[in-house]
Amino acid sequence: MFDDETLRDYASLFSDKKELIRATKGFMPPAEGIALARSLDSCPLDPCLPAVEIGSYAGLSAIYLGTVAKKQGRALICVDHHHGSEENQPGWEFHDPSLVDPVSGKMDTLYLLRRSIELSGLSDTVIIVAADSHRFASVYDCRIAFLFIDGGHGFDQAHSDYRSWVPKLASGGYLAVHDVFDDPESGGQVPLLLYRKALEEGFVDVLAQGSLRVMRKA
Ligand code: SAH
Ligand code: MG
Repeated sequence: MFDDETLRDYASLFSDKKELIRATKGFMPPAEGIALARSLDSCPLDPCLPAVEIGSYAGLSAIYLGTVAKKQGRALICVDHHHGSEENQPGWEFHDPSLVDPVSGKMDTLYLLRRSIELSGLSDTVIIVAADSHRFASVYDCRIAFLFIDGGHGFDQAHSDYRSWVPKLASGGYLAVHDVFDDPESGGQVPLLLYRKALEEGFVDVLAQGSLRVMRKA
């Protein structure tokens, strides 16, 4: 676990990206983004093993993770089909009508992710994969050092992300899960189930910040 002071000091890594972070659409509060980045920074595994993010949206969390990955010389693979999760669809709480492609009629955040990565100088670090997480996992056959799960929060989707990607995580690697809420009033409970599943399977807590939980694979 990192104390508040450590995380505050660490925020200076993002001082030149403050405006970009403020202007980027997304669902990653600064304190959680900084904690996410700090946890990747403390991941001891060889930088030849990539970090993988499931659920990038417009790239907010990718800016935090990518900044550290670049410092480490590690690739960050950002996986998202870019058509939005259930809660991003019309009529749901987190729908943004400006993100609907007028031709396809579907949500499309791909160009925003690409823009965020370019503006943050991370094009040489981030590999953008526009695909369903489960489908991409079925053809991706390398070990990874760090896994951030922040994709679909429905039961089947989130568990499929876990089942498809956690086995690729190398021993000693880190698993981060977003939107873990102990209180059902604060948010859906599926990420909490993933967090508990990981602990049951022997993962060890590394960090908790807001709704972010980071664990180490034994
Ligand atoms: N990490 C982002 C927020 C992610 S929102 C931030 O920091 O702001 C969740 C994202 O998961 C959406 O962009 C959605 O398109 C993506 N997603 C949902 N289900 C998915 C699936 N099956 N495969 C790939 N991406 C998915
Ligand atoms: Mg989230």
